[in-house]
Amino acid sequence: MRKIALFGSTGSIGTQAIDVISDEFEVSILTAGRNIELFEKQLQDLNPEIAVLLDENKKISERFPQIEFLHGAQGLTEAAQKGDYDILLNAIVGIAGLRSTYEAVRRGKDVALANKESLVAGGSLIIAEAKKSGAEIIPVDSEHSAIYQCLDGNAINRIILTASGGPFRGMKRRELADITPQQALKHPNWDMGNKITIDSATLMNKGLEVIEARWLFDLVPEQIEVLVHPESAIHSIVEFEDKAMLAQLGIPDMRVPIAYALSKPGRWASTSASLELSDLHFEKPDKETFKCLKLAYEVLEEEQSYAVVYNAANELLVGRFLRGNIGFLDIGDNIERVLQAHKPIGNLDIDGIMELDRKVKGEVECI
Ligand code: NAD
Ligand code: MG
Repeated sequence: MRKIALFGSTGSIGTQAIDVISDEFEVSILTAGRNIELFEKQLQDLNPEIAVLLDENKKISERFPQIEFLHGAQGLTEAAQKGDYDILLNAIVGIAGLRSTYEAVRRGKDVALANKESLVAGGSLIIAEAKKSGAEIIPVDSEHSAIYQCLDGNAINRIILTASGGPFRGMKRRELADITPQQALKHPNWDMGNKITIDSATLMNKGLEVIEARWLFDLVPEQIEVLVHPESAIHSIVEFEDKAMLAQLGIPDMRVPIAYALSKPGRWASTSASLELSDLHFEKPDKETFKCLKLAYEVLEEEQSYAVVYNAANELLVGRFLRGNIGFLDIGDNIERVLQAHKPIGNLDIDGIMELDRKVKGEVECI
């Protein structure tokens, strides 16, 4: 039986992954942040060989003496390095997921990747390591999974990443100034973790996905387009050189791309609803109001260190917005300011990326 390491098992993607893992997988590693109650239940149900929690917890480790407990960022690294698994599903949120992707790829292990921040901050490094080791990075993000499902071996002319437009589609800057976290946390189509939900409201999520697509499919920025499609029925589109386009459709349900990353090239039967097609709408994204998307294209023209800064500033600013410290528009405005002040750094290794991430977060904390 194939073994899976499930990183970030208590989150939105992690719990949906547990829903779809079929009889084909044995779970060998589970990791979580601070949702202890759910994690205990998962340990009970899935009995992994290794468990990683952010903080040491004697009560839990004594309850499961057969499981090896590790903790903190170092614990994640160690588990990715020495654990017994065929595929690692990375569903950690934020830069905290980077090193797990990196370590798995270096060992030649396939990674089903939900943690888009891994490729945003570490794209050139991770792709280079994957080429060396032969590891495959299989996208879980629905847009990238759609593209992956449409590829037929022919060269790509361009891709069209669809975007729902988020809860504030059509609104202008003056209407966005007083948006509260509660309003921004209501996504029209998807039920996701808090950070990605805010990223969807600012269109930062689409910016991160543009950068993710650049690395996954080896594209130049001009080959990556974004199209707002409020129904989220078409998950993305590939255009080939003969101008034929292939798209992947379905209801917005992350269990479908998660399952595909684990079942490919086959498909598992699903209990999800079928998509009923009706009127579909498309519009160009408003990159001036939602400047995080515009900034992603600027970042792609620069040294990789800009993408590290873009990602780090956003991660910290989203946290501050959720705590009521800053306004909604301050997220994009401050990312722009920090990018303008950044002096490029060439050839970042994994420690260099993490150090730059910490430095940027330290600066943005004080803005
Ligand atoms: P979430 O917040 O629901 O879950 C995150 C998981 O990571 C949890 O298990 C949490 O305990 C763990 N975690 C958080 N901080 C950690 C840290 N510092 N160290 C170790 N573990 C930590 O997030 P999510 O919505 O499931 O998203 C996970 C990733 O998948 C993100 O990168 C997101 O962009 C991407 N993604 C999510 C969706 C979705 O529908 N939720 C869709 C596409 C892509
Ligand atoms: Mg997505």
